[in-house]
Amino acid sequence: MDQRRQLQRLVLQRLESLHLAGVLDLPRRVPRPRGDVVPAAASAGAVHVPAPVAPPAKPVRTAPVPPEAAVSGGAAPPAAIAPEPRILFPVEREMASTPTLSRAQRLEGLDQVSREVAHCRRCAELVATRTQTVFGTGNPMARLVFLGEAPGADEDRQGEPFVGRAGQLLNDILAACTLKREDVYILNILKCRPPGNRAPQPQEVSNCRDYLLRQLEIIRPEFICCLGAVAAQNLLDTTTPIGQLRGRIHQFGQIKVVATYHPAYLLRNQSAKRLTWDDMKMLMRAMGIKLPAKKK
Ligand code: SF4
Repeated sequence: MDQRRQLQRLVLQRLESLHLAGVLDLPRRVPRPRGDVVPAAASAGAVHVPAPVAPPAKPVRTAPVPPEAAVSGGAAPPAAIAPEPRILFPVEREMASTPTLSRAQRLEGLDQVSREVAHCRRCAELVATRTQTVFGTGNPMARLVFLGEAPGADEDRQGEPFVGRAGQLLNDILAACTLKREDVYILNILKCRPPGNRAPQPQEVSNCRDYLLRQLEIIRPEFICCLGAVAAQNLLDTTTPIGQLRGRIHQFGQIKVVATYHPAYLLRNQSAKRLTWDDMKMLMRAMGIKLPAKKK
C-alpha cells in the first residue's frame, strides 16, 4: 500500500511539473486492435495530459449490497455510486469546471488531510523527535496563504505554525497590512520539526509535498507569501537566492507568489525589515488592499 501511495505521489509530482512547464499534451501509443485497421485518429493523435490526480482522499467505497440480494443470495446489479467530486490542483484552476468548494467542504477536506498528517511516518528521524505534527491554521476561505519552512521548538510544542517571537513579528506584519491571522491561512513546507531546527532535507520536503499541495487545492488561495528561502525555493522549484526572488511577483499555477524574508531572520537582521515591508506593500497592492496613509 505504501508503495502504491509512493508511486501515486511520484506520478502526481511529475504531472504537476509538466503542467507548470506548460506541457499540456503527450503522445500516446495506442494498442493496435488485432487484425483490424487502426483508425487514423487513434494511431496518430496526441492525447491531452491527464490532470494530476490527488491521491484518493478517502478509501474507495464499495457498493452496498441491496437487502434483497443479501437475503436471497441472488446476483442483483450493483448499486450505482455517484463519483465524489475531485479536488483540482491550483494549476488546473483555469480548466476547472467544478464550483469552488464551500467553507464546510474546505473544513472537511482540511480536517481529513490533517488526520492523515497526524499519523504520517514518512520521515523516520522527524517522527522519532517530533512532539506533534503542525498542520496549519487560519481561514479556509483565505485569499492569502503564508508559507513558512518548518515548525520550530515553540510550534512543535503548541501544534501551531508561527508562534513565539517570530510568530509575534508575523502578527505585527499582518497588522501593518490591516490583516489578522484569522484573515489568512498559515502553513509550512514541512509539518514536523527538524531536530535542532536544522534545514529540511530534500527527501523530507518531497515526502511532505503532497500534503502541502492538497492544502492548497482545498484553500485555492489567490496569493501565497513565502517566508524565507526554504519556502520560496521549494515552492517555486528554484535555487535562486531569496534576495533575488523577493521584490517581484511569481506564478505558481494560477496563484501569484511573493517571496520575502522569514520573520526569524528579521529578528536577527533589523535592516531587512524595510525590504520585507516593501514586499508586503507590493503584495497588498496586487491584492487591492489599501494601506492607511503613513502618519507624518
Ligand atoms: S514532515 Fe511531512 S512527510 Fe515527513 S513525517 Fe512529517 S508529516 Fe510526514
